[in-house]
Amino acid sequence: MEIQKQSKQQQQEEFALASVTELASSSTSSSRSDSQSAPVIARFSAGNGVAVLRFNRDSESTDSISVDVKTAQLSKLGPLQSVCIAEASGADTGKEKYSTGVTVQFRNEEESRAFHCAFEQWKKKDIVQGTLLPNGAVTSFKSKFEDKIEPSSAKMYFHYYGQLLHQQNMMQDYVRTGTYYAAVMENRVDFIDRVVVDVGAGSGILSLFAAQAGAKHVYAVEASEMAEYARKLIAGNPSLGERITVIKGKVEEVELPEKADILISEPMGTLLVNERMLESYVIARDRFLVPNGKMFPAVGRIHMAPFSDEYLFVEIANKALFWQQHKYFGVDLTPLYGSAFGGYFSQPVVDAFDPRLLVAPTISHDLDFTEIKEEDLYEIEIPLKFVASVGTRVHGLACWFDVLFNGSAVQRWLTTAPGAPTTHWYQLRCVLSQPLYVMAGQEITGQLRMVAHNAQSYTIYLTLSAKMWGPGAEQGGILQTSSCKLDLKEPYYRMSQPQAYAMAQDQQPTPANTHTDDLEGPELIQPPPQNLDGQL
Ligand code: SAH
Repeated sequence: MEIQKQSKQQQQEEFALASVTELASSSTSSSRSDSQSAPVIARFSAGNGVAVLRFNRDSESTDSISVDVKTAQLSKLGPLQSVCIAEASGADTGKEKYSTGVTVQFRNEEESRAFHCAFEQWKKKDIVQGTLLPNGAVTSFKSKFEDKIEPSSAKMYFHYYGQLLHQQNMMQDYVRTGTYYAAVMENRVDFIDRVVVDVGAGSGILSLFAAQAGAKHVYAVEASEMAEYARKLIAGNPSLGERITVIKGKVEEVELPEKADILISEPMGTLLVNERMLESYVIARDRFLVPNGKMFPAVGRIHMAPFSDEYLFVEIANKALFWQQHKYFGVDLTPLYGSAFGGYFSQPVVDAFDPRLLVAPTISHDLDFTEIKEEDLYEIEIPLKFVASVGTRVHGLACWFDVLFNGSAVQRWLTTAPGAPTTHWYQLRCVLSQPLYVMAGQEITGQLRMVAHNAQSYTIYLTLSAKMWGPGAEQGGILQTSSCKLDLKEPYYRMSQPQAYAMAQDQQPTPANTHTDDLEGPELIQPPPQNLDGQL
């Protein structure tokens, strides 16, 4: 129904209607007769600090009726017919107030619902004057999303999700999609005859699951262009689609005609929090969910454990060796070696690894989506305390997450743990440029601090410490401490490399030496043998 996309600042939104008929009015001369009931464009726009709804016979026409959305009322006369009553001033005096009315005829119920949603949304919009755009000063809207997210980041983000190939990638993660399907279908009791909001609906797949489970109505809210595809997919599944309304917009900004009994969403990014969509999930909870309503999923749990992986460490360190060349086409590259080395170690590594690389029992940190405040997700601090199971070199911290579907009938976890069937999230490892040496039974302490940034991700600060061991350690109790700062937005996807999980570490080929005779190449560091049994 929405025939033209909303502009980035959502300053315009258009709908096609079957017809409009102006009710008889004593104050205007532009009354329309039924003979004029040809297809009409209804356009919401922001002008001079107010939201205006204009009905045009076509988008070019100047023959239009305008109403101020703030003061207008929209009421349903029937499933396909509504009436919009607005305030109008007397033409001659400009003081006397009249009411003007327009009967709106929709082409179908879905379009009627979407128009009503948009009407409510525009009514509540907070229009702020004065944002300068290339074509001059215009009005703009502020939302919680726009307050904290860089527009260029949001643009790229929603462009990404607007493409079917990326939705397909998620849908083809059968661990993910299958777990959602099972969790919904096993918990039909939570969906039957309930109002559901799908937060970030993408292709609409979870809305269709909710409808299959017997939902009374599902509002599928999606901000990217994928909303159009979702409409298409849903229209192509009419027995379910008649109970689904796609609403294009951000959950921070759209208005819904009713509250939801249950929210369903897949807001998890790498390390659970990447993409900062959990915040949107929590905002949707506060805006749309009835008190004590259900959330699918309800809980997220981040798991962490120190790992030892010489191959990974050497692979990362070797990447920077390029910058150790003194005669690269006659140029000394070494001034940039330190920066390059730091750069490689600031990338969290995303791959599926063998759980045998973990060197201490796991600890976890829970996020209760039903309780947590949005602001609590801006900075997450997790104290770390492990006891090493083996003597080894610790190369960093491995992290992954689970989410819980806390259904009334069945509780089900979706896990992304190493050793469990691999998902498109894989696992994440923060690698220290300065590994720590530990003995079996030794305590490893530290902190994982994640600070959200305006590019929809987090800066990660990791510190790990272990007491010195061996002769002399008792005297001073000196700590070895190693820290790193990583950008969760810039991970190193290690998936093109031989998979650590597919091949045991001791069977992996030594990385090829790329040294050539023509150019002075760096000497690759060779990994020392893995040592997991305490003989350092
Ligand atoms: N629910 C779908 C898609 C999950 S991906 C599935 O499970 O397959 C997350 C989706 O949420 C993306 O399509 C993205 O565009 C959308 N999204 C992210 N933040 C949003 C927000 N604030 N408002 C509305 N949609 C959002």
